Order: sequence, then C-alpha cells, then structure tokens
Amino acid sequence: MDVKNKKSVRVTFNFVRDSAGHHTTRVPASAGHWVSTMNYVYNGQANIHVILRSARGVAAAVDLGTEVMWDASAGSEWNTVTALGDAGADMNYFLVWEYEQDATPTVDDTDAGTLAGNCIFEDHAGTAIGVTMAHEMGHFLGRPDHYVGARRLELMYGITDQRGIHLTKTDVNGMNP
Ligand SMILES: [Zn+2]
Repeated sequence: MDVKNKKSVRVTFNFVRDSAGHHTTRVPASAGHWVSTMNYVYNGQANIHVILRSARGVAAAVDLGTEVMWDASAGSEWNTVTALGDAGADMNYFLVWEYEQDATPTVDDTDAGTLAGNCIFEDHAGTAIGVTMAHEMGHFLGRPDHYVGARRLELMYGITDQRGIHLTKTDVNGMNP
C-alpha cells in the first residue's frame, strides 16, 4: 500500500448575508463539527488534514435575491459572493440560503457547487452536512461526481445523503498524488 505524504487543506467558512436581509441559517458554531467529519473522511484514507482557519460572517453589498445563481458572466452572483472569500484559505465555503446553477432555477435540484477553491453551499443541502462538504472538497481536490448506483458508498457518488465516505484508490491518488 502507498503511504501518502501529509497534505493540509485550510478552510474558511463564510456565512453570507446580503443587502436585502437574505442570510444563511447556518452558524459558525457548527464549523468545528463539519471539520471533524471531513477529517474523519480524509485523515485515514488519504492523509489529508482539514484545518479550520476561520468561520466568519460576510456581507454582500447587493440584493442577491431568493437564490444565489451561478452563471458564466463576469457580474454573476457567483463572482459577487466568492469575492468575499478569505485569500489565506485553500478552500472557501460560502453558506447561503439557496443556490442554483442550471436552467431551472425554480427547481431546487442543486445543493452546492464547487469551482477551484470556492464552494457555495445552501441551507437545504440535506442532512449529512459534513459528508456533503467532504464531497465538495473532493471536487476541489480534482475528483468528479459519478452516478453508479452500485458504488454509492463512495464519497464521490453524486447524490446528497445517499453516498458513503469510501475513497477509491483512484480518488486518493487524484486527491493526494
Ligand atoms: Zn458533486
């Protein structure tokens, strides 16, 4: 078996509110528990260690509306929110009330989205929050979703609250080469 070098990922949790009073219902006191769950997933399997750098409130100076939207434009809500991140963190989580990234924004079919070092994570993202955050970190670490039902005990299975925490050898080698 390969022994992986220790890899650290410093994370900041940003609890978002906007100028119109929309705000996440999540609270910074939960951050330690989320990080514990992520370390439970990653320490033994991949020698990846998640370090809580900060858990803090951030305020967007605009009305983001009832959902925060991803789109590809420079002025997108995604860019407005992620600009509030902590430059000293490897990965920033942005806790928001509602998030959508597709052509059917009125259907709540997305729980979170991760691009590079940013993850926008909504209040309605199921119940296994730490595991879902660990899954999103898997995207940050370069691994894609899969939807193979027979492999749903893996962390990178794409459906929230139906996945397990197993990392395949391919996952580990991709996440901590
Ligand atoms: Zn995913």
